[in-house]
Amino acid sequence: MRIHDQIKTSQGRLPSRGARYVTYDNTPASIVFELLTPQQVASREGEDARSDATLGLEDLSVIKLISEAVAFAGTSGPLFGRSDCESIVDWQSAIALAHEMVSLQEMLNGAKPFVPAALNIEKMTACVSGTGAEFSVYTASFDIGCSDESAYAAIMPTLPWLKKFRQQQGFDYSFMSAEVDEGHIILSAFLLSFEREISALDFAAAFSYFANDAAVVEQALHGLVGDATLISQDWTVEGVLGLLSTEPNLLVNELPLDETDYPHLQKLVYAIISLHLQGVRIDVFSSTEGDDFMAFDCFLSYLWYGFARKLGQVKIGYCEQCGRGFSLTGHRGIKRRFCSAECKTKAKNARSKEQRDEVRRRFAEGESVAHIAKACFPGESAREARCRVVSSLKGWKTLQHELDAAIVVRGDQRAFMYRLIDEGVITAADVASRAQYLKDNPRTAKAALKYAQGDR
Ligand SMILES: [Zn+2]
Repeated sequence: MRIHDQIKTSQGRLPSRGARYVTYDNTPASIVFELLTPQQVASREGEDARSDATLGLEDLSVIKLISEAVAFAGTSGPLFGRSDCESIVDWQSAIALAHEMVSLQEMLNGAKPFVPAALNIEKMTACVSGTGAEFSVYTASFDIGCSDESAYAAIMPTLPWLKKFRQQQGFDYSFMSAEVDEGHIILSAFLLSFEREISALDFAAAFSYFANDAAVVEQALHGLVGDATLISQDWTVEGVLGLLSTEPNLLVNELPLDETDYPHLQKLVYAIISLHLQGVRIDVFSSTEGDDFMAFDCFLSYLWYGFARKLGQVKIGYCEQCGRGFSLTGHRGIKRRFCSAECKTKAKNARSKEQRDEVRRRFAEGESVAHIAKACFPGESAREARCRVVSSLKGWKTLQHELDAAIVVRGDQRAFMYRLIDEGVITAADVASRAQYLKDNPRTAKAALKYAQGDR
C-alpha cells in the first residue's frame, strides 16, 4: 500500500502541512506538498474535519495568480490525490475548467447576466438531409494538461465517454472526447440535442460530423447500444457504421447562444460534473452523513461534488477592496463585501481617512462642528458624531500650527482660536497650557512666529 492511500481521507484529501511553488530549469513548475505521515494523521484525528468546510470549487474557480493557487493548495492539499508534487499546468487546467462551469452556472441561476461571448461554448444546428431530422450541438473545449503526464486526465474516465439525458421532449447526449494538440490534451465536450426520437442514420450523421475518428464513433455507438428506449428503430453498431460510409449529408449552421439554450447548457454542466466524479463510491464507515456517506479518490472530485450539490445557488462575489472573487454559494443574510479580514480593515481605514479629510476640509471652509457632524456621520447619534468630528480635528497638524500662531501673535489670528473654543474643539484651559508649553520651548515658539508671519 502506498503512503498516499494510507493517509487519504474519504474526501480524497492528502493531509499536508503546507504547499510551495517550485520551479527548476529543466522540470515543469510544480506545487510541492509536505504530506503528513500516517502517524501524524492518526494523532491529528478530528482536527482536519473542521478546516475542510470552507473550500469549494467556486474558490478554486476565481484563482488568477500563482500565489493564490499556492495559498489554496496550502489549505486543500493535492487536488489529484496521487502525488505530493503536482504540475502547475494541471492546476491551471483545473482552475480554468472550474471557472468556465462556475461562470456558466451563475448565468443559468440568474446570479449574473447572460453573456454568451464570455463563454467558451459554440452552438450549431444541423439537419440530416436524408431524413430531415434536426439537432443542435453545443461544443466546449478545454486544455487538461500535458499529454505525457497529465494528472488531471488521469482522474477522468477513459475517453471517449458518453452520457445520456432524457429531456421532456427529445434527448440530449453528451459526448466527451480528447485529442492531443501540440503536446496538450484537449478535452472536447459535445452536447447533441435531438428534439424527437432519432434514427440510426441521424446518429451516424451526427457522429460522423463531430468526431472525425472512426474508432471514436464506434465507441460512442457501442455506448448507445442496449439503450433501446432511446432509439426509434432497430439498429446495430455495424448497421450504423455501414451508414457512415454513405457520408450522410448534413446542413450545418452556426448560431448565437441565447436564453432558450439554458436547459441544454445545464446538461453540459451536468456532463462536465459527471466527468469529475469517477471513482466515487459509497463508504458508510469512513465517510460521514454530511457527505452522503460517499468517498472520493481525489479532492478535486470532492470539490465538483460540492458544486453539484448546490448548483442552484452558485454565486461569486467580488471584493470591494481588491477585486478578488469569492464564493457566495448558499450565502444568506448580510451581503459579504470583502475577500478577507485584511481587505475589510484596509477598506475601513481608507474610509476613515476619507472621512477625516472631509471633516477637516469642511471645518477649514467655516462649517460648524454640528453641521459637519450631521453631514459626515449621518448614521451616528449627535453626541457620537460630534465626538468623531472633534477627534478628527484634534489630530490635525494645520490646526495646531494655527493655534500656536494665534497664541504667539495675538492678532487677527485669534479669531480662529476663539472659534475653536466656541465650538468646543478645545478649551480655554488647553490654550493656557499650550501657551505655557510655548514659553518653555522657545524653539517651537519661534517656529510658530515664523508660521504666523506667513511662512506657511
Ligand atoms: Zn480583497
